[in-house]
Amino acid sequence: MPSITRPADTTAAGLAPYATCETHSRGRRFPEPPPNTRSEYQRDRDRIVHSGAFRRLEYKTQVFVNHEGDMFRTRLTHSIEVAQISRSIARVLHLNETLSETIALAHDLGHTPFGHAGQDILNECMKDFGGFEHNLQSLRIIDELEEKYAEFNGLNLTFETREGILKHCSSTNARKLGELGQRFLDKRQPGLEAQITNIADEIAYNNHDVDDGLRAGLLDIDGLCEVRLFRQQHEAVFSAYPRISEKRAIHEIIRRMINQQVTDFLENTTARIAQAGPTSRDDITRLSEPLVGFSAEMKTMNQELKQFLRHNLYRHYRVHRMTAKAAIIIRGLFEAFFNDPLLLPPEQQHHVARLHSDQGDAGRARGIADYIAGMTDRYAIREYERIFNATELT
Ligand code: MG
Repeated sequence: MPSITRPADTTAAGLAPYATCETHSRGRRFPEPPPNTRSEYQRDRDRIVHSGAFRRLEYKTQVFVNHEGDMFRTRLTHSIEVAQISRSIARVLHLNETLSETIALAHDLGHTPFGHAGQDILNECMKDFGGFEHNLQSLRIIDELEEKYAEFNGLNLTFETREGILKHCSSTNARKLGELGQRFLDKRQPGLEAQITNIADEIAYNNHDVDDGLRAGLLDIDGLCEVRLFRQQHEAVFSAYPRISEKRAIHEIIRRMINQQVTDFLENTTARIAQAGPTSRDDITRLSEPLVGFSAEMKTMNQELKQFLRHNLYRHYRVHRMTAKAAIIIRGLFEAFFNDPLLLPPEQQHHVARLHSDQGDAGRARGIADYIAGMTDRYAIREYERIFNATELT
């Protein structure tokens, strides 16, 4: 029988000397034999794709509530777009494409229902119990909450994937995380694969929020022409195709905006790498600032776009109404479960009781936050109905 060879990204072949290579991986929390047919980072990616938390991203949103329409981005499609941009960038820079894809697919796992509004309210509910932060929750899911494997809790992912998922962290939390938290205390950086995924995230959400905002009728083209990044591409598209339909024009403008940002990022990052001259991954992680980034001009144009979205989309009254409702639902559920854990479904009661007996009230609150954070938008709305609508039968 012919022997099976493991794929090329298990070796340094084709990778820049400062890329992350699994040969130098700091390994998994619970040692496992190497996979037969995949690289270590492929195995991480596959475990993420097969997790329950990943499937739930389909029904979680960032700006629009999931039931508002089938055409909007969800956290799942957002994560796939981030993975696509990350992989393109990783390939040009000769970084580990699989690792950047893995980090991208996992980066939003810990998000609550109802986007950032949901996280802010849950953080408020948890203020006496250590707070709630979606980024730490992503780590909690992959390290502890997924219960799928016989030999360990969580997904037992490699150090480099876990490091990439943990984008930011307070010193208090970093101290609790041991080896993984150490870089925040030492002010060191993660590998370049994680750094590019952060930028890919930003490129993806700014541009798809423009697209979704236009589709929802909350933004209009004239207003967006105040933003330089949009206006430049708008002019280019309409001078090349004066009779183009609005629908095609929007897509043309947005794809060109993404392309312009990615190209700027690649040119600027390539120059920064050449100037810093790193010869190993350690040379990257030892720096006090991320090595990657946009040009100064693109940074300013991005700020302009973000500010426009903040004023015109995220604070739009229709989005704000959703945010206000999210607050009622999440706070209502948290308080009801905290005051009477018997309202929880049996599996959650068990989880909360175990944490309560270990850590008292903080444990009880954490278990409830785990349950609420894991809900999809529509599940949270249904659960609120079941608890608070006295005429609901179950
Ligand atoms: Mg994201």
